[in-house]
This record gives sequence, C-alpha cells and structure tokens, in this order.
Amino acid sequence: MFTCDAFAVDAADQTFHPFTFERRDPLDHDVDIEILYCGVCHSDLHTARSDWAGTIYPCVPGHEIVGKVRRVGKKVTRFKEGDTVGVGCMVNSCGTCDCCRAGLEQYCEKGNTLTYNSPDPETGKDRYTFGGYSKRIVVNDNFVLAVPENLDLAGAAPLLCAGITTYSPLRHWKAGKGMKVGVAGLGGLGHMAVKLAHAMGADVTMLTTSPSKEADARRLGAHHVVLTRDSENLAKAAKTLDLIIDTIAAKHNIDAYLNLLKVNGTLVQVGAPAEPLPVGVFNLITARRSLAGSCIGGIAETQEMLDFCGKHNITADIELIKAQEIDKAYERMLKSDVKYRFVIDMASF
Ligand code: NAP
Ligand code: ZN
Repeated sequence: MFTCDAFAVDAADQTFHPFTFERRDPLDHDVDIEILYCGVCHSDLHTARSDWAGTIYPCVPGHEIVGKVRRVGKKVTRFKEGDTVGVGCMVNSCGTCDCCRAGLEQYCEKGNTLTYNSPDPETGKDRYTFGGYSKRIVVNDNFVLAVPENLDLAGAAPLLCAGITTYSPLRHWKAGKGMKVGVAGLGGLGHMAVKLAHAMGADVTMLTTSPSKEADARRLGAHHVVLTRDSENLAKAAKTLDLIIDTIAAKHNIDAYLNLLKVNGTLVQVGAPAEPLPVGVFNLITARRSLAGSCIGGIAETQEMLDFCGKHNITADIELIKAQEIDKAYERMLKSDVKYRFVIDMASF
C-alpha cells in the first residue's frame, strides 16, 4: 500500500478538503498512474451531494483522468513507465457475462467496479473506490486507455466521460451525413456531443436555455441553435430532428424535446436528473418516436473514441482550476455557468 493525496467530501452538505488514504500497490495486471488532470463531471456533483441514493463518505469523485504511467504490474504488456494514459468511469468488470464479452462493460450483468464510490473487490469487500480528485490511481490494465500523443492533455481528460458518453449513442444511432442531430444542454457532455456529431458529418442543432451560449454553440460546430425557453422557437423547430442527445442534468419537460423529433425519431437520455421525467405517451405514439437511454461506453469503444478525437484533433474546451476551487466549480455548474468543462490541475495540490 502507499499513501495517496486527494480531495474528499464527508457529507452532502459539506465542502471538499484535503484527504489522504492508502491505495494498493500494483497487482500483476495493474497500472499505477500519476494523475495530471481530472475533469469535473456533473455526475461527481450528483454523487458528492448525494442527489442519487447511495453515496458513501468520505467520497473522492473524479472519472475523467489523464496521467502518466509510473509503474506496471508483472504481467502488464500494453503499457510502460512514462506512457500517457486515461481512465474513465469504470476500473473493472466481471469480464465473463454476455455484456462484458460483447465489449459492453458499462452494462456488466454482475455489476462493474466504478472509478469512485463503488465496492472494490480487488482491495477488500468493505472498501470503496476513490476516484481521480487524487494524485495517483491504480487500475487493471484492461481499463486503462491510451491517449493519443497529439492531444492537449488537460483538454483530453473530459473525453474519458463526457466524450464517450456522447460518442457511444451517436455511433449506436448512426449519426452521420444526412442525419439531423439535436443536442440538449450545452455543458460538458453537450459541447462534446456538438463537436463529435459535427465531426461525424451530421447536421447539428443546439437546444439551449442560455442565450449567452448561442455564439459558442456555433463555434463548437452547431449549424442551428434553438433557444428553448421560448415556446415559439420550439414550435418552429417541431418535427425537424432525427436524433436528440439529451444531456440535461436537472428536471425538465421532456415532452417539449420529444416534439422536436420527426416520425421515427429517437431521444436518447444521457443526462441523469435524480427525479423521474414524466412523459406524455401521445408524443411517442403519434409519431412512432423512441425514448432511449445510454450509459458511457465500453472500453474498446472508448479507445475508438480517443483515436477518433486524435485523428480529428478534438478535445474539450476547458477551464483549468485548482483543487481548492472544486466547490466553486460545482456552484457554477449548478447555474449552467460552465464553458465547457472544469478540469483540475493536479499540480495545484
Ligand atoms: P453540465 O456541464 O452541468 O451541463 C448540463 C447542461 O444542462 C447545462 O449547462 C445547461 O445547458 C443544461 N441545463 C441545466 N439545467 C437545466 C434545466 N433545468 N433545463 C434545461 N436545461 C438545463 O453537466 P454534464 O457534466 O454535461 O452532465 C450532464 C448530465 O449527464 C448529468 O446529469 C450527469 O450526471 C449525466 N451523465 C450521464 C452519463 C451517462 O453515462 N449517461 C455520463 C456522464 C454524465 P444550457 O445552458 O445550454 O441550457
Ligand atoms: Zn462523468
């Protein structure tokens, strides 16, 4: 075991503070990573503030990790000291169920090990994982990703969650030339969805509540912008989209967005508000629309996404912060005041 510095939160209504804990030394298949940057995802906030049930405290969030390999276990062949690597939302899974064998570890039937706040079978039954708001992390090599060398490392960190969470449904629902894709919510996930859908060749419509983000939406790659607080704008955009990636982190009127879909269109919910979203079934029935969900992406697909981003030189637009500024960043995220991802610089510890 070795001592690791981190930032943790002790209860839903508390702020972050410096924290040290013990990480395991690398097992035969582990990679020990010196973390350089970690993105701040709205899921970190949901967890730290116990929006969703089940947060275990102290909690060290963080699942958009980029760093350098420091040590590898005896049986690791894919990575060596000094390599630039990434870790996303998962650090292990059963490896044997149908989902794992199909490269869908995010849907592991036995339950995968998440990067934080997850029981950690490798360290002990009563231990929970601590995430990337820390200086180092030790991860099974199957869950370590290679980060393309041409990408800015701080900007690449958000690809590990915001990137894959939007890339996966865009690929699954075949976003590309001739497809009209809407993106609801211009935050961390939303701005990645705009960049990726644009790079895939789709016609992209930004659906935002923030008039101040209109120019940025176009700069990021949106061909059209709909300001959704105005019902006239929504009426004009009715039945224009084939696919909507809904990244909204709070309760919202999902019917208003379903109405924007053409016949046979699909709305994919990736945003994860704690409260249920009521749906008017007639919005589905009368246009054979689908309402779907999608969870991050599998490991092979995450590597595919990183390579795609390497090829197209895509990274997140970030605001680099110190670890001491996490609480302030959370407050700004809650006000939709994020352009477009906060990333913690580990040198600030
Ligand atoms: P974020 O950076 O805070 O962005 C969310 C955006 O949603 C805001 O910037 C805002 O955009 C819009 N929004 C917020 N409140 C709204 C409201 N009441 N009505 C309409 N729009 C609203 O969050 P994020 O990190 O992108 O995460 C988004 C959600 O995805 C979170 O719930 C997170 O937990 C979830 N998530 C899910 C997965 C998955 O696997 N499915 C993975 C990662 C994250 P505008 O200013 O443009 O309106
Ligand atoms: Zn996330």
